[in-house]
Amino acid sequence: MKLIILGPPASGKGTQAKLLAQKLNLKHISTGDLVRAEINSQTELGKKLQAYTKSGKLVPDSLITPLLKKHLPRDNYILDGYPRTQNQAEQLRKFTEPDFIIHIEVQDSVIIRRVTARRQCPRCRAIYGITLPPKRQGFCDNDNAKLIQRKDDTKEIVSERIQVYKKESEPVLSAFRNKLITVDGSKDPRIILDEILSRMGK
Ligand code: AMP
Repeated sequence: MKLIILGPPASGKGTQAKLLAQKLNLKHISTGDLVRAEINSQTELGKKLQAYTKSGKLVPDSLITPLLKKHLPRDNYILDGYPRTQNQAEQLRKFTEPDFIIHIEVQDSVIIRRVTARRQCPRCRAIYGITLPPKRQGFCDNDNAKLIQRKDDTKEIVSERIQVYKKESEPVLSAFRNKLITVDGSKDPRIILDEILSRMGK
């Protein structure tokens, strides 16, 4: 099974990707996580990527596409965060063909509220927020590490990322019209998961 999950920032696509990966035994590939891993390791590529992510901008296709190709398995994956542009959608089709595109829809006001509450574990990358808070406030359920706020999760940067999503990423959906599963991202994550699975016939 080859899945792609698309949605604005903080639409819950990371959460759904993890739930679907567990349920269907897929590898979860998040280009945002790949980018952050390069930045954190301070590689040459990481230094270039940081200049773009700091201001909420997309990184150029010439950097992101090779990074994705290095990590994407041939099958049994759920891809989160790519394609983000029409050009990326065209490039993707040269190296893989997804079975379904899951599109999560959420209003801007909900996104802003969620983003400012979102925290991530620096160790295992688990994400917490309004819908999935940690058991102990400020600490990861899995390894007890102190949770951090992502540098690009401020109100100003997320507003810029929403605009970028609308201009660059939303048009990608029409290219996958016949494989699209659109769900309401304001619902409970378990309800969304069940809806996606049933629409895939699982
Ligand atoms: P995300 O966690 O998916 O929001 O990604 C964080 C940041 O990584 C984005 O704001 C972009 O700067 C960069 N990034 C991730 N995926 C892509 C992509 N497919 N194309 C361009 N930039 C990306």
